[in-house]
Amino acid sequence: AGGLVLGIDLGATKVVSGLVDPSGRVVRTSGRIVHGNRGPGVVLAAVIRSARAALRMAAEPPDTVGVAVAAQVDPRTGTVIHAPNLGWRDVALARRLEDELGRPIHVVNDARAATFAEWKYGAGVGVRDLFCLALGTGVGGSAVLGGRLIEGGTHAAGEVGHMTIVSGGRKCRCPNWGCFEAYVGGWAIEERAREAIREARRDPDPMVERAGGVDRVTAETVFLAYRQGDPIARRLVRETERFLTDGAVGVVNAFNPTVLVLAG
Ligand SMILES: [Zn+2]
Repeated sequence: AGGLVLGIDLGATKVVSGLVDPSGRVVRTSGRIVHGNRGPGVVLAAVIRSARAALRMAAEPPDTVGVAVAAQVDPRTGTVIHAPNLGWRDVALARRLEDELGRPIHVVNDARAATFAEWKYGAGVGVRDLFCLALGTGVGGSAVLGGRLIEGGTHAAGEVGHMTIVSGGRKCRCPNWGCFEAYVGGWAIEERAREAIREARRDPDPMVERAGGVDRVTAETVFLAYRQGDPIARRLVRETERFLTDGAVGVVNAFNPTVLVLAG
């Protein structure tokens, strides 16, 4: 098992730790559910449990550990500057994990990590100009231009989730309104679905029945209902596609990539 590295993907709803071989293949993973709203301590404990479980699976302990987090990160210090979907500000993630795991930790923004992985091992191998749009609970993005991963003045270049696509539109989790993420992020699809369901007043409502309550409807509920031809789910998916297209057009105009990767 020589040459394995440990990669940790920390999102707003789950953390997955994986052992990765030198060709970029994930050989083992260990995941934990994360409750981002319960503060950094609880989330860090889940990260550490998941990382230790993955480390135990390695025949030879990896000495390189990378953490990808849905956040604005200072890659030199490994500090999370701001993670809206985790509710974090200025969390010394690398230092706190180093204390627990006893090895150096590299922390990067998750969209940047996804972009780098697509460029080195995935859809963008050999491409010099690439944009990777990372869709999950939030919406992230990052660009490789002229064969370089662009960083930006405050390490946030390519964060297109917070570009305005609807002036004065839906409230985002950032301080603004009408952001791309406020329409196509997982949390936003969920919010839009619950509103549409409440407005429709169907009795019974197939999505509510499936989820076990209107407040338990998620983006996944919508996609499952869509596949079964539910008219409200179909409308929501069609609207989401339109917002996604509008955002993607903005990205292509701004960055002029030869390859656009949709990840997540
Ligand atoms: Zn926003």
